[in-house]
Amino acid sequence: MTKDHKEILSRLKSYHASGSTQDAAARKNVLRKLRENISLMENDICEALYRDLGKTPEESFLTETGMVMESLKYFISSLGKLSRPKRAGIAVSQIPGRARIVPQPYGTVLIISPWNYPFLLALDPLVAAIAAGNCVVLKPSEYAPVTAAVVEKLISESVPSEWVSVIQGDAGVSESLLDEKFDYIFYTGGKRVGRIILQKAAVNLVPVTLELGGKSPVIVCRDADVKTAARRIVFGKYLNSGQTCVAPDYLLVQEEIHDELMTAMISEIDRMYPDGNCGKIITRGHYDRLVRLMENQNIIHGGKCDSFSMTISPTILDSPDPGSAIMQEEIFGPLLPVLTFKEESQAVGYIKGGEKPLAAYIFCGSKKRGMKIANSFSFGGGCVNDTVLHLASTRLPFGGVGESGMGCYHGKYGFDTFTHYKSMLVRGTFLDPPLRYRPFGKWKKRILKAVLG
Ligand code: NAD
Repeated sequence: MTKDHKEILSRLKSYHASGSTQDAAARKNVLRKLRENISLMENDICEALYRDLGKTPEESFLTETGMVMESLKYFISSLGKLSRPKRAGIAVSQIPGRARIVPQPYGTVLIISPWNYPFLLALDPLVAAIAAGNCVVLKPSEYAPVTAAVVEKLISESVPSEWVSVIQGDAGVSESLLDEKFDYIFYTGGKRVGRIILQKAAVNLVPVTLELGGKSPVIVCRDADVKTAARRIVFGKYLNSGQTCVAPDYLLVQEEIHDELMTAMISEIDRMYPDGNCGKIITRGHYDRLVRLMENQNIIHGGKCDSFSMTISPTILDSPDPGSAIMQEEIFGPLLPVLTFKEESQAVGYIKGGEKPLAAYIFCGSKKRGMKIANSFSFGGGCVNDTVLHLASTRLPFGGVGESGMGCYHGKYGFDTFTHYKSMLVRGTFLDPPLRYRPFGKWKKRILKAVLG
């Protein structure tokens, strides 16, 4: 970590120690200012997202700025309630007394964000961390540099620099930040780096949230509404060129409706992406990896690659070998492999054979059976008869399980993530029953057993 970075961190720590972030009204003011400035800078944000990822303004609003605004609205209206100490009941041994659960910010937290939703995934955890009263170092992804610069400008114009500082840089900068002692680390990105984060956090015993990825399946049962399933799968899969952590990674369809579903999906792709452009692949390295994943596969739709613009048209691949790379690694691009199954238990068995996914989607004629299938294996979160939308709510916790992550956020769950709940017992001194003090005679033992036993 450079001298400048050390100074930034020490300034943030002093500011937190001064207690300035404890004031709920001050936190609200910062959140209001952020909201105001996001509105004012909306065009700059959209332009940046277009330049980094080829996103249209509508998609940017739907999947990035709109969701951050929703989160800000939630925290501005709920912060008073969330940050208030809560009463708790007391045990017999604590009579007379009052118990309180006091929400306290962790202190100074490090947020490391990725490039695929570079505005949302930097701002959403940041808003929760501020609402909970923390000071923050935010490290945006170096792969979305235009958005990272806009995020830095937005924050410098909305939040005092001793409260939140943006530190730009690559993996080296990120690693050196991890050598410093933060009070909490919140990381969003791939598993490989997730492991590094966890190891580094262990050195200083720092708690972490890891928002990772994985291979998220879609199951389509024979009695599903095929047209709606096709539309919703195409929406979730090819959004942001498939570079969405909760995008369907592969499709398991019951064999009787395979052909019907493929026809419906191809017609939806043609309708939603008439020019075959669903966005830009972030780097040459990611583009080359995706092109390699398509080699020797049975492409039934799409597969058009433009090396100059680094775009790949929405692609469907049929019956890949389950041992092939495309069925082993997270795809994170606009390629959808399709496998068939005979019985639902077979589809569930296949999913259970892999790591716990971040998301799973079940399309089924009966919502009850859809939920039954969903309850039969472990994953972060998902939908019955839809894709991706489960994350668009401040009322649902969002996070992975097993190799797809640990911890969660969104709405109250974000506040909880960045909060230590301190238990306090408050007692007077007037009454002091001698029951717990030595020496223990026979009668004391008897009363203790009667009261506590
Ligand atoms: P990335 O390469 O942008 O990395 C994420 C962050 O980690 C960046 O800020 C980067 O600078 C930092 N980083 C890279 N190497 C590092 C190192 N050695 N030590 C410390 N920090 C380092 O993003 P990515 O990993 O390509 O992101 C894609 C992955 O993220 C996919 O697996 C996707 O599923 C997952 N993801 C998960 C979520 C979620 O909410 N669960 C959201 C988006 C993406």
